[in-house]
Amino acid sequence: MNKVYFKKAQPVVYQTLSNALKNQRVANAYLFHGPKGSSKLETAILFAQSIVCEHVDVDGFACQECESCKRIENEDSLDYMIVSNDRIKKKDIVDLQAFFESTSAGKQNARIYILDHYDKATSDASNSLLKFLEEPSEGIYGILIADEKSNVLPTIQSRCQSIHFKPESCKHLLLENTMEENAKMLADSGYTYDKAIELLALPDFEELKQIAFEYIENASSFAQIEKMQTSVFVNKSDRMNKDWIQLWIQWILFYVKNNKVNLPLENKVKLYSILVENMDMLYRPVDLGLFMDKLYYDIRKAVIK
Ligand SMILES: [Zn+2]
Repeated sequence: MNKVYFKKAQPVVYQTLSNALKNQRVANAYLFHGPKGSSKLETAILFAQSIVCEHVDVDGFACQECESCKRIENEDSLDYMIVSNDRIKKKDIVDLQAFFESTSAGKQNARIYILDHYDKATSDASNSLLKFLEEPSEGIYGILIADEKSNVLPTIQSRCQSIHFKPESCKHLLLENTMEENAKMLADSGYTYDKAIELLALPDFEELKQIAFEYIENASSFAQIEKMQTSVFVNKSDRMNKDWIQLWIQWILFYVKNNKVNLPLENKVKLYSILVENMDMLYRPVDLGLFMDKLYYDIRKAVIK
């Protein structure tokens, strides 16, 4: 994560975490919460690095360069675990506990876990985690991440230090890296700065943007659907992944919202709600091939005048 950006975008979070690190008062559990697009996950990773890094900066944050930092970045450490399932289940928490128990024998060093999308965890998972949080072991630190704090059980909330992230728009900074339209789409879609930069660096970013435009202009045509199936989101190909599909949907949403698609209002409204609903569906475990086929047909129905 870009620390200069972090300090500017989330000054309160920056200060709070900096104080904890500098005064060695890191809590056993944190709940990072705030709207989509705020850099909660990126900050959690930086914070985890900062706990183990031996070359921290004046504010107590990790160097992001040393071996300990790299190990966390690459998820290649026996003292660190990140669970980023769409829906955290009891088994994930049990595995997490087992992982730390099996790797921590006789160890003095800090062990850290991050639970992403915690607001979508099952209640069984929360009950297991609760026991873990009630008897905090020395040197184990947890960071839970949630868009919606209210979806996290109050008993879990009360055992975590709550860190609120404010909405972030990275558009301004993205303009240093890309053109207006790309910056606006990525920022409005709620991508974090880091994620947006990662996507912009992909060689076919511009191509996918074109594909989305061409598709939505011709979404009622079966030939267009076939083209998508056979040359864009081909089953088992590299592009058939949630990141790409999400980006593709975001581009279509962007075109609809910014009136770049020529449709009567009624069709636009229908199309919009299909896209938003399906974006949510993507967070669940789905068969991507079937998901896309259904989406093409739903969109086709919505755009037929
Ligand atoms: Zn470091």
